[in-house]
Order: sequence, then C-alpha cells, then structure tokens
Amino acid sequence: MPLRLFNTLSGQLDELVPADGDVLRMYACGPTVYDYGHIGNFRTFLQVDVLRRFLKLTGIRLRHVMNITDVDDKIIRNAAAAGIPISEYTPRYVDAFFEDLDSLRVEHPEQIARATQHIPRMVDLIQRLAAVGAAYQTEDGSWYFRLSAFPAYGKLSKKDLSGMEDGARVDVDEYEKDSARDFALWKAAKPGETAWDTAIGRGRPGWHIECSAMAMEYLGDSFDLHAGGEDLMFPHHENEIAQSETVTGKPFARHWMHVRFLLVDGRKMSKSEGNFYTLRDLLLKGYKASAIRLALISVPYRHQLNFTFDGLTEATHAIERLRTFHDRLTQTTLAAGENPALQEGAKKAQAEYMAALSNDLNTAEARAPIFELIRTANTAIDRGQFLAGDREAILAVLRDFDAVFDVLEDRDAEPTRRALAWAEQAGKMSEVAPELLAAQSLTDEEIEALVAERTMAKKQRNFARADQIRNQLAENGIVLEDSKDGVRWKRK
Ligand code: AMP
Ligand code: ZN
Repeated sequence: MPLRLFNTLSGQLDELVPADGDVLRMYACGPTVYDYGHIGNFRTFLQVDVLRRFLKLTGIRLRHVMNITDVDDKIIRNAAAAGIPISEYTPRYVDAFFEDLDSLRVEHPEQIARATQHIPRMVDLIQRLAAVGAAYQTEDGSWYFRLSAFPAYGKLSKKDLSGMEDGARVDVDEYEKDSARDFALWKAAKPGETAWDTAIGRGRPGWHIECSAMAMEYLGDSFDLHAGGEDLMFPHHENEIAQSETVTGKPFARHWMHVRFLLVDGRKMSKSEGNFYTLRDLLLKGYKASAIRLALISVPYRHQLNFTFDGLTEATHAIERLRTFHDRLTQTTLAAGENPALQEGAKKAQAEYMAALSNDLNTAEARAPIFELIRTANTAIDRGQFLAGDREAILAVLRDFDAVFDVLEDRDAEPTRRALAWAEQAGKMSEVAPELLAAQSLTDEEIEALVAERTMAKKQRNFARADQIRNQLAENGIVLEDSKDGVRWKRK
C-alpha cells in the first residue's frame, strides 16, 4: 500500500514513491547545534522517524540525508560568550543530539552532513549563481541571492510577493515572516569571527545555501522528498528552492513534508513562559523515554500537538498495557487449536493499522485498532478462548506496530541513567525528581540480592521479613511482580 503524504508544494496528498523505482532519496533539515534539543525539535525528528520506519515497513529502501548546522549566527554568538572557538563549542551539542535521538530510538539517517565540512561545495554553488547573475557581492564582501532572478519564488509557501521591493536585503539567517528580501549566501568575515578563505572571499556560509549544497551533493539535483518543521517552509525552504533551481534548471525536491509545531499547555513553548522542555528535563522529572516517544508521535504530524503532562502519563499507561499484554501473550500456557474470530480480528487490526499510516501517516488512527485488539485478546485469554495457534497471528501484528512505534521492549533504564549521569556532571541534580533519585539509589545487583533474600524469607515462612523487603523496595520505586516463574522487578 503506497504512502499518500501531504505535499506542501502541490497542496494535496501525493503518493510518495522513489522516482528511480529503487531508493527513496530524502533530505531532512537537522539541528542547529547551539544548545540541547527541546521537545519541539524532537517532535519533528520523531515524525520523520515515523515516515522512515513506515516506508521501510512497506519495503522501500532509503537514502536519507540530514545536515548538522554547526556554524550560524547563534553558534557564533554563544561560542564568543563562552570564549571558545565554534569548533570547540559545537561538538558537545552534536554528541548530546545523537544521544537524545538514541534515547528516543530515532533511527539515524544514512548520511549526516556537517556544514563546516562542506564549505567548498557551498562556494561552488555561489559561484555558479554569480555566473548566471543570480548572486551579487556587496561592498563589505558578502554575497546575496537576487530574488528577482527566480520568478517562481513563493511557490512552496504560496506567498504573494508582488509588493516585494527589488534589491532590499537581509543578512541574518532567520528573518521575519513576510519579509521576502535578497538573502545572504555568504557573510564576509567580521573581526574575531570564524571564517574560511575561499575563492569568493574570506567569510562563512549563510544557513540556506548549506542545505542546498549538501542535499544536491548527496542526493543529486532532483530528489524525492524534503522535510522539516513548519517554521522552515518560509523563508528557509523557499530559499533552498530558489538557489538550487536557479543553478540546475531542474525541480529540486518533488515532495515537501512539514511537521506542525508543538504547543505546551496550549501555548507556544518558550523559555520566558516557563513552559520550555528539553528531552533531558523530562527524563530528570522521571518520565520514561518510551513514553515521551509515544506522546510525541501519537498525534499525526499535520495536527498541532498540544503537549501536556497528562498526555505523558497517558502514554506511560498505554505502554504499560502494551508490555503487560506482550508478557502475558508470551508466557501464558494455552490450549491447542485456533480461534477463528481472533484470527480474523488480528487480520482486521493489521489492515486498519497499515491503512491509517498510509493515509498521511495517521498515527492516532493507527494506534486505535492495536489497542482494541489487545482488549479483545485479553478478554479471550481470561475466558480460555485464546488458543496456542492464535499466538503468532497476534504477535505478528504487534511486530508491525512496533516496527514504527518502537516502544514494546523496555529499554528505558539506559536513557534515564544517561540523563542522571549528565545531570550530575552538569550540576543539575537539584532538578531530578525525588522518586527518580530513590529508584536509582539501589544498583541492579543490590535489588537482585534483596529479591533473592525475600524469596528465601518466604520459603522459610518469614513473611514479616519478606514484606519488609517488599516495602523497602517500593519506597525506592522498585515494583515486584510475583509470577509462577519467579519474581520479576522493575523500576517504576
Ligand atoms: P533548529 O535546531 O532550531 O534548526 O530546529 C530543528 C528542527 O526542529 C527544525 O525542523 C524545526 O522546524 C523543528 N522545530 C523547532 N521548534 C519546533 C516546535 N515547537 N515544534 C515542532 N518542531 C519544531
Ligand atoms: Zn535546511
């Protein structure tokens, strides 16, 4: 079933298939590494991950490129404030970014491209623009794109630019909406700033040229899909199109995907509003990485996600339901045979799941039949109507669900441990939730030893000691589950 994905450029749902019939070539704008990523950033990267994983589930091979913007106005400003060169400033945030992606189980693109490693390619592009009269140099040595050289400007964001002032310029990387202007391709070096000596002068690239140069380097002049958050549609993506298509005369990306912005408690997330969260903030509050992943992907990418702590709690419960069901399914002894109604139910859930995702990646509608199936299957197990021959059919549905959602297996301890190690090093231990600290105060070995002691105490009918240990563990946020195969424990 091919994916029908909304295409900002055409303004409608278009089928997304590789133009060469083989590998789908896509570019997604990556982070600017001047700080830790916030949940809005990760909402966008997670939705691109959903796209990736669904395409792979339908058998499509991918070549996905993501840039890392490791030179820009903000980076230069922050590095200067810290009194270090940008080459020392950015690596910390690059590493943190990938660590956070791993915590959220976001797959890495096939190709990562760092801006500072592609300067010659950008210079080449600017020279080619200059050769056709679409780039000009100003007195200070900077280079600008001449907007009037590209009459189709505005075709992506559908802006009416008729009142545009010819020759008006803007030199910052990010500028006000609706102010279409000749934009900077190359910024002449200011004293003390990081700069490269090149054929077009000493300076550094603008942000927009970076993505054009790296996308075309790894994917060719034309490719299948370009993605990013909705804020990038104008001017960033519009500028990428103008630069690239002016040079090649060919369509740049055929399909454009934009992820809607996330709100927090119904408002724009901002530091001054006090509703700004990085992934690390949430991990230190005791939320699990899997719950954050599920909460950030469960609202389809084209809908506004209103992030709330209630939503995170709901996601936590949904994951518990899923994992408990999976354990039950794999551990219960079942009578031989097959239940045709369950087999039918599994088929239907699988079909609805795939149909929802292929309809513009509707993750909310895709989740519903899976949880419905879990309810039906749980009831069937309760009533002895779930038979050994049904197990594989249901597991197969869960596998497809997890190929995209990836929350089934409990891998939450590691991200939390990493966040705590970071908090300790960054002097942020005061921000750690007390329950989380308690749960981490015992090592796995200490917990195992207490669990073994409790088992022994019960055998010896010393129930007082057994209860004492259970309570002690509970106080430290460790839950015990007694089953016929022994005791299992987990951190709450
Ligand atoms: P940046 O590091 O600021 O360049 O942003 C990285 C990505 O996160 C871009 O694709 C942005 O569009 C996206 N982004 C930034 N803020 C939000 C938000 N509140 N909601 C969704 N995506 C966002
Ligand atoms: Zn970009």
